[in-house]
Amino acid sequence: MTQTLTEIDEARRIVLEHAGALGGEPVALADAQGRVLAVDVDSPEAVPPFDNSAMDGFALRSSDVAGAGPRTPVALLIAGESRAGHPWPQTVGPAQAVAISTGAMLPAGADGVVAVEQTHTRDGHVEVLTGVAPGDYVRLAGEDIRAGQRVLARGTRLGAAELGVLASLGRAEVGCSRRPRVAVITTGDELVALGVELTPGAIHDANAYSVPALAAQLGAELRPVATVPDEAQATRRALESALADADVVVVCGGVSVGVHDHVRPTLAALGVSEHFWGVALRPGKPTWFGTCGETLVFGLPGNPVSAMVTFTLFVAPALDALSGAVVSVRRSGARITRDYAKAPGRAHAVRCRLLLDEHGWQAEPTGDQRSHILTSMLDADALAIIPTASGDVRAGENVEVQLLARMWPGLR
Ligand code: AMP
Ligand code: MG
Repeated sequence: MTQTLTEIDEARRIVLEHAGALGGEPVALADAQGRVLAVDVDSPEAVPPFDNSAMDGFALRSSDVAGAGPRTPVALLIAGESRAGHPWPQTVGPAQAVAISTGAMLPAGADGVVAVEQTHTRDGHVEVLTGVAPGDYVRLAGEDIRAGQRVLARGTRLGAAELGVLASLGRAEVGCSRRPRVAVITTGDELVALGVELTPGAIHDANAYSVPALAAQLGAELRPVATVPDEAQATRRALESALADADVVVVCGGVSVGVHDHVRPTLAALGVSEHFWGVALRPGKPTWFGTCGETLVFGLPGNPVSAMVTFTLFVAPALDALSGAVVSVRRSGARITRDYAKAPGRAHAVRCRLLLDEHGWQAEPTGDQRSHILTSMLDADALAIIPTASGDVRAGENVEVQLLARMWPGLR
């Protein structure tokens, strides 16, 4: 019997159907990079909190310098100074000016600022060489954020700009969704740990490093990676322990139909219900997804590229959803730079570098696209998704591209 393959978008939809946001917890702003807001954030106050100067110069009453120009300077008495953090506490009177620094509070009475470059100073007076309109070089209170304004919405992942904005509101702590706990299991008799010499037939365990790194980029809390041989009892023990202690279990390898592939029968024996097995995708066909209560279980193909691609397409959106983040598949269009040979039947995920030329984005395949060529992931910015029904693609044709995680915001 031929296996029914699930389309990529349908597979992702099934995954998301089972991935609800985890609960919230307070997080210190200093620890919040990459975390996801569990609540909307409204500003308790205006930012900036007071009218202030945009320049080093002099705060003055604009009506005092009407008609001032390079040849008709107007002299004002320097009545005091307003420095950043040290406001001048009095009111600017007629024919007076107050020296002011960038960011210093605009004193009462003043309605404009003249830049220091447009003045001469002598004998306690400032000669103003230009007219000033009300509001010139004044930054008004609340110009960035009004008191009560919604600043950030629940589901936002906190990157540099978000952290800066929260700090400017004085928030020392924010409500964030709990980080998904992720357990990664790699399988295979051939795998040996780093630092162990390779015996004939053995390889180093690449997935034990690439897959947790992908999860970490999305803010996952990682359990130590377990590596098991192709043996039923060891597979069962590792899965039992992962299921007891994780929101997401990711098994790499051993999910095919070979006699030494123990993952699927063991998952079935442990009561994990299967939602799909087999995706119309290359690389990544033997991808498995199931759930055990609230826990999501992914069986990813062991080939190192397949594991990274299927993680990106299916596990990453699940981690976003569990984290309460808005799940947005970042897809765009680009022109492929080379002919790409393809038979209809499965969608292909082609690793590409994105280059900008005068006509827009170009997607340049990274080289040999077979699933064991892990170096094809190096420097890849995006996956070009060539649809299932598509045949050969010609250089210059427009293709859909999905940006890879390293371009997403919010890394910890
Ligand atoms: P499997 O999915 O177990 O049939 O494995 C498919 C291919 O991926 C085989 O060539 C494996 O040797 C290779 N492979 C499986 N797991 C890993 C791993 N953790 N690191 C590197 N290669 C792997
Ligand atoms: Mg294997």
